[in-house]
Amino acid sequence: MSRMADRIAEKVRRIKGSGIREFFDIAQRLEGAISLGVGEPDFITPWSIREACIFSLEKGYTSYTSNWGLLELREALSDAIYKESGVYYEPEGEILITTGVSEAFDLAVRTIVNPGDEVVLHEPSYVSYPSCTIFAGGTPVCVDTGVEDEFKLRADNLEERITERTKAIILSYPNNPTGAALSRKDLEEIADVVNEHDLLVISDEIYGRLTYEGTHTCFSSLNGMQERTILLNGFSKAYAMTGWRLGYAAGNKEIIEAMMKIHQYVMLCAPITAQMAALEALRCDEEVERMVSEYNRRRKLIVKGLRAIGLSCFEPKGAFYTFPSIKTTGLTSGEFAKRLLMEERVVVIPGSVFGACGEGFVRCAYAVSHHKIKEALERIGRFLERNR
Ligand code: PLP
Repeated sequence: MSRMADRIAEKVRRIKGSGIREFFDIAQRLEGAISLGVGEPDFITPWSIREACIFSLEKGYTSYTSNWGLLELREALSDAIYKESGVYYEPEGEILITTGVSEAFDLAVRTIVNPGDEVVLHEPSYVSYPSCTIFAGGTPVCVDTGVEDEFKLRADNLEERITERTKAIILSYPNNPTGAALSRKDLEEIADVVNEHDLLVISDEIYGRLTYEGTHTCFSSLNGMQERTILLNGFSKAYAMTGWRLGYAAGNKEIIEAMMKIHQYVMLCAPITAQMAALEALRCDEEVERMVSEYNRRRKLIVKGLRAIGLSCFEPKGAFYTFPSIKTTGLTSGEFAKRLLMEERVVVIPGSVFGACGEGFVRCAYAVSHHKIKEALERIGRFLERNR
């Protein structure tokens, strides 16, 4: 190891870079590549939202905001959460505006974790959870979920991994990368475990609006869960606003205030331009509905197409990902993704990136046009013909 590498903190050194970015970077350099790789809407942010941002700049809104975020935005969010899930959060003290769910998640774990505390999370799941938990000094404890359970976190499996060091659990449904969702009943069973073991919950509901079957249940709307839950959500996915970097955390006043203490020193506040745009976004229900129904059409197309070319594929219920099994090819998910990219120029993400139990699967995002999905399916079909 070089002397410089020696100086890097051990917990940073031992964490690998995100496996998603690696594929994204290769795909950008390959001409004609179709990317089912990155989890990002192909829609441009709706015009009225962009217009609100432009207008705010014209009016000269270029300053910091309160560390908490604009009060008007917190009030609008409080109303929106109440309307959607019946849970009321006080705009002053119970809602913190952050730079994306990414920051909100980081603040949440840093706020609640002491060195050695365990944080239980289900896998396959979003890549940031284990790493951020380690950065915060905690120990991630993974519960595998499998296709036989439709990638749902089962309460009994969760309970098996709880020890006296468990501080919190992370819930992430609708799920990236599997597209799984939990019913109210599934969530109630988890809530019983949370109650019994006196735990906190970080519930990342960034894909809540992108639910195609049934309705999304906000975890904090369950009996007794509001106090225990740090609810995370944001504008990246449902409003096609990934680049604006805006999210929020809502929860118990003492916890949100403690999160705010870190946020005020590290970030000061989320960008005012994005906050002004978000105020308009909350009035854009129709645009969101339009995008959601388009994702739903694509979901049906890709699932049918993957099955038709011989890949068994769990039917996703939310988000914009499919997670087909590639076990029949005999390739690892890493080999499959690399060879598919080099031979057919289609980007998919190896399932192993999302946890060891994701091996044998690949993530295909369907946040791309019908035309691209059809072309990608043809190319994958050709690849499979050669690798049966
Ligand atoms: N949470 C999940 C489950 C995600 O899939 C992503 C991005 O892919 C994020 C959080 C990051 O969200 P943001 O853009 O709000 O930081």
